[in-house]
Amino acid sequence: AVVSTRRPAWVEVSASAIQHNITAIRHLTGVKRFIAIVKANAYGHGLTQVVLAAQQANVDGFGVATIDEAIWLREFGVDLPIFILGVTPAVYADDLVKYQLIPVVTSEAWLDELIDNMPKTQQLPVSIGVDTGMGRIGIRQEDELVRVVDKITAHKQLSLKGIGMHFATADEKDTTYYQQQLQNWHQLVDNLQLPSDVWYHMANSATTLWHEQPTLDTVRVGAAMYGFNPSGDVLATDKLIPALSLKASLVHVKEVAAGTSVSYGATYTTDQTEWIGTLPIGYADGYARQLQGMYGLLADGRRVEIIGRIAMDQLMVRLPEALPVGTVVTLIGQVGQEKITLEMLASRLGTIPYEVATSLAPRLPRKLV
Ligand code: PLP
Repeated sequence: AVVSTRRPAWVEVSASAIQHNITAIRHLTGVKRFIAIVKANAYGHGLTQVVLAAQQANVDGFGVATIDEAIWLREFGVDLPIFILGVTPAVYADDLVKYQLIPVVTSEAWLDELIDNMPKTQQLPVSIGVDTGMGRIGIRQEDELVRVVDKITAHKQLSLKGIGMHFATADEKDTTYYQQQLQNWHQLVDNLQLPSDVWYHMANSATTLWHEQPTLDTVRVGAAMYGFNPSGDVLATDKLIPALSLKASLVHVKEVAAGTSVSYGATYTTDQTEWIGTLPIGYADGYARQLQGMYGLLADGRRVEIIGRIAMDQLMVRLPEALPVGTVVTLIGQVGQEKITLEMLASRLGTIPYEVATSLAPRLPRKLV
């Protein structure tokens, strides 16, 4: 993707917000280690920017979805442990070894394939994924788990770096399923003979915010580090500061007469003489087309409504007066007491803040502020 650095539309990510959130979660939970989840371009926030901010906050490791993301981090210069949360095709064992990445062992069959594909000399750390009820990836049966632990322990080149699980409902009011998953974990894991330096990682953001910690060892946190609420607005938290802002500057301003239509479909027609501004950002940037009718914020906190259809690369706002080209409009972020959050956009769109953030396109430049 081409990053459009010369167009005045960009994402800002606040290093101090990320650092505040990491510290807040550490204090809240009292855990020993913090794995910062930076998959999907750091939840759309910008991988480079977030990694730099998180390293300054002394995180203990990173988590990504794919081996490619993990290799990128190593080549960027990250020395910390990198956990790959998704399944890595075992044919890439040589890359895992070369870059010293930590794949997740999700079945005995996968482990066998890994062993078949391992280069014969070097070491590789691995982490076991236990499926306690997420139903996505991981080992569900005790006998298979025991065999996997035994095979890893017996294999001279493999070391067991971690063991983890993922909660499916930690962001919900009803804790029944959460408790069931926790119970499954204890049944499956408590009797295993594991090395003493294994990282136990179970908690996602919602677990850190709203549950007694299932382990004081390691957390695996995304949403809370970025400062958005993992439950949307189901459960409350006041511990976090949103790290992301989305901004664009007016590139065109005009006064139009009453009865003038704006954008595709001519869905908006002015009632009176109006000032209309154009922002160089659209649905291809991840600012969803269904957000027509939403608003942006001027520097003094006044709202400017998005009028007419949102186009692929541009959208129009109704201005309170003639404003100069170059005027900055905040589409996500805080301006004085006014704010537009990922949660607000998500609830308008009928989705979750995760999807709004990760939809922000690669072509938007990310600035660490
Ligand atoms: N661990 C795993 C396995 C995940 O898939 C994710 C994200 O979906 C996380 C941790 C982080 O979750 P959250 O962003 O809710 O903290």
